[in-house]
This record gives sequence, structure tokens and C-alpha cells, in this order.
Amino acid sequence: MSIRHEELWQETVDFHGHICPGIAVGFRASVLAMATLDKALRKLGETHIAVCENDVCGIDGVQYITGCTLGNDGLIIYNRGKFAFSWVEKRTGEGIRILLKVPLWASNEPLLLHRKVKVGTATEKEKQQWIDIRGKRGLELMELKDNKLLDVQQIKIKIPGKPRLFPFVSCAECGEAFMEPWASLDGGRVICPACKS
Ligand SMILES: [Zn+2]
Ligand SMILES: [Zn+2]
Repeated sequence: MSIRHEELWQETVDFHGHICPGIAVGFRASVLAMATLDKALRKLGETHIAVCENDVCGIDGVQYITGCTLGNDGLIIYNRGKFAFSWVEKRTGEGIRILLKVPLWASNEPLLLHRKVKVGTATEKEKQQWIDIRGKRGLELMELKDNKLLDVQQIKIKIPGKPRLFPFVSCAECGEAFMEPWASLDGGRVICPACKS
């Protein structure tokens, strides 16, 4: 990695909160997308929409590096449980899909640990083991060259634009303002989803 990439990787890890295989792949795919599509840092969102085929760690890399974020409508999560990230030109639908070529985990064993941590049955020792294992695997993946780690495919998909802002109405029950598509009528009164149940 060049010095700048080293710095960016550190920033991405800080943004994400830890080192893991997911953030390593999200970071590397994003840096490769930037280079392949010849865009500056965080400028991909101006022309492209990112499509992530999973909803885990790597999307933080996509957001931090390419500037395609959930907030700016530059990121679609199309969860198919795959470690693939696409960047599609908004106007033409042309783009690239970057797919992880190697297993995210060397074995499925760490996932058992992950499950225990998530459901709250892991001991303190197991929690530390999980942190160590995911950090180690993340760094292992960072060592691989682009062509060993990732596969780049040319794609063309048209992503229809979708409005996300709507007129606001007030809930007759709690008085809070909310967007109209979420309204329901209760005896002629406009009610928000929280007051509906
Ligand atoms: Zn992570
Ligand atoms: Zn309400």
C-alpha cells in the first residue's frame, strides 16, 4: 500500500470501529473502484450509485472511501448474502461489480464465536478471541494483491430513481410531524405508525 492508502485504511478502521475481514474487503473494493472508474476520494457518489449485496461491515468502507452513502441516496443495500459491491453510473447504468474471490473467513469456526458474542453467551475470553480472530483475518486479506482478492466485472443495470421525500402531515394522536406515505386513517383522523398499534 502507498502511504496515502495506509492513512486511508487507518481512517476507515477508525470510522468502522475495528479491523475485520468485512471492512478490509469493503475498503479494498472501494479503493479499486475509485481507481478503475478514475474518481477522486469520495467523489464516486456524484456520478454513481453503490449497490452492496450484503449489509455488514464492508459498507462502511464503501461510504467512507467512495462517498456513496445511505444518507445521500448513493447506496442501495441489495442483500443477497454475497461479498460483492457494484458502482453503477446513474445516467447510463454502466458500471463495475467487484466480487470477493477468496473466502471471507478461512473456516466457519469464527462464525460460531461471532454468534455467541452476538446473542450474549460468550465469555470474556471468547469475546477477546473473536476480536483477535477477526482482526487477524482482516489483516490477512489486506495483504493479498488486488487480483488475488477481488474480481472486477463490467455490468450494466438501470437503477430507477426513487423519491424519498414526501409532504409532512401531523399525527392527530401524538402531534408529531411525519411523511404522508406512513399515515393511516383511524376514524377519519391521520395517525402515525407509532400511534397506530
Ligand atoms: Zn467489522
Ligand atoms: Zn403519533
